[in-house]
Amino acid sequence: MDYYNPTLGHQFINGKQVLGQGPVLPRVSPATGDKLLDVDTASAEQVDQAVQAAARAFKTWSALTPAERSDHLLAFARELQAHAGELAQVETAQTGKSIRMSTEFDVPGTIDNVNFFAGAARNLQGLAAGDYAGNTTSMIRREAIGVIGSISPWNYPLQMAAWKVLPAIAAGNTIVLKPSELTPGTSMLFAKAASDSGLPDGVLNVVVGDGPSVGATLVRHPLVKMTSFTGSTAVGLKIMSMAAERANRVHLELGGKAPFIVFDDADIEAAAHGAVAGSTINSGQDCTAATRAYVHSSVFDKFTARVAQLMDAMVVGSPSDPDTDMGSLISEAHLEKVSAMVDRAKQDGAQILAGGRREERPGFYYRPTLVIGAAQDSEIVQHEVFGPVLVALPFDDDEQAMDLANDTPYGLAASAWTKNVDRAMKASAQIQAGCVWINEHILIVSDMPHGGYKASGMGKDMSQYSFDEYTNVKHVMLSHDPAPHRQWQDTVFK
Ligand code: NAD
Repeated sequence: MDYYNPTLGHQFINGKQVLGQGPVLPRVSPATGDKLLDVDTASAEQVDQAVQAAARAFKTWSALTPAERSDHLLAFARELQAHAGELAQVETAQTGKSIRMSTEFDVPGTIDNVNFFAGAARNLQGLAAGDYAGNTTSMIRREAIGVIGSISPWNYPLQMAAWKVLPAIAAGNTIVLKPSELTPGTSMLFAKAASDSGLPDGVLNVVVGDGPSVGATLVRHPLVKMTSFTGSTAVGLKIMSMAAERANRVHLELGGKAPFIVFDDADIEAAAHGAVAGSTINSGQDCTAATRAYVHSSVFDKFTARVAQLMDAMVVGSPSDPDTDMGSLISEAHLEKVSAMVDRAKQDGAQILAGGRREERPGFYYRPTLVIGAAQDSEIVQHEVFGPVLVALPFDDDEQAMDLANDTPYGLAASAWTKNVDRAMKASAQIQAGCVWINEHILIVSDMPHGGYKASGMGKDMSQYSFDEYTNVKHVMLSHDPAPHRQWQDTVFK
């Protein structure tokens, strides 16, 4: 690896990679438990420097034409592509996800996102209708907001950086990104690639550090006009109240607890594969992961037996081995949290049909796990586990399935498995979630919006819809012939 040199620092401020002047955070490898690196963090002064750089860059960046911004993003995508192999290696080293995931999913998904927004930058449309008294024409301008402060989680560091950064800068904003302190490497490389490809200094800055210090300093900075956040619901609520102190805009992508509904007419083989892939992707550390399988009682045993069989056959092991299906969890503390939730479910009477234990090797590995017999109101059904754990519960009729699916505070994503189009369409209307897949689970594409209902957040990542978050809508009215306006002015000047 020669592109990534962590000793040069994880901050990227005003076009330069620099060492943080805040406290150093030691980080162990999730794959082995051995020391991985020392993560330098930004001081409050460096957060201020990054925001000031973004504010200076905003004046020129927001004045570029959409075609000029688009050209920058196309060059950025090419630069990322040139370093795709190393980006995948760093992503895997810091998260413990399998190299197959990083190589075939995270890096191509990130580059696709950059390419999508290179096109979308030239399509910032506003809609206007209306004419007053036959002599005005209204126009809509979509205007960049200013400096965006973005905070991202550790589960997909590279893709989350792209989801936050691309719509913001494509629309003419500048940005300061604070990635998770657990996984700063690829976010810094993302900014370095942008800069190497010719993105002007200050348009994209990265500051690393923990949430309560560096994150909160960024959200509260007076020049930051909006915070876009992806992470847990608990922290999202804190961000919302900090932003409210200055009536700042927020965009929140929060936790999830996706239901996976299997009707009695479903293709059980396809559903079982979908459930295992959907619950173990990224070691289950995915906000849209399949977590609650509601299965018609007539096919419950067949479905759960097949899911257990597929889970037991999964190769859990070294993330750098191309034959590994599932790598490690992010940290020892997170492994203990996942393991304790499954243990509590067992104590409360649930049964484990697959997994339910650590994989015995150094590092933080947990076997793909299938739980049955848990109560709908139990912790394992209601709360985000964020590990490779699927809970299956039976239902008897379609209405009951919808009620159970909607019965958590979350509403990010869901899937329904059926061959009946009427059932599929009714389910997609009744499920309270930002995304409903039919006979699919997890597939997320740059062209379509991603975002939650209820406690899963507000606003959309990706697609043209994300521009609603990152632009102000301005109405401009042009009066061609002022005279007839006397009609309404007469109510003022009698
Ligand atoms: P987290 O909420 O603990 O941390 C997310 C980010 O917030 C990190 O960068 C962290 O440093 C920062 N942070 C923490 N406290 C803060 C504070 N007081 N002020 C400012 N910043 C603060 O989440 P995590 O553990 O990193 O990620 C897992 C969570 O993210 C899960 O709940 C998952 O569902 C969610 N997630 C959601 C989506 C989505 O699209 N909805 C995508 C990925 C992850």
